[in-house]
Amino acid sequence: MDSPIFANLIADGYEQIAPDPETYAIDRGICAESVCMQCEKEGLLYQPYYHPTTGSYRAFCVCPPNAAT
Ligand SMILES: [Zn+2]
Repeated sequence: MDSPIFANLIADGYEQIAPDPETYAIDRGICAESVCMQCEKEGLLYQPYYHPTTGSYRAFCVCPPNAAT
């Protein structure tokens, strides 16, 4: 399934990385304990987007079937 928002982030210069290991560990844990609002599956994928030039960081918890990669 295509996720237009993710494609837009990549087009804007975001990379699929976390800003630092601590942020990665914390947010990954949050996603792992989150429940999908659509199918109620527990344990979502952490998808970080970090813009190395601007320092902007966007993080998403994505249901595995909807993951961008
Ligand atoms: Zn789901």
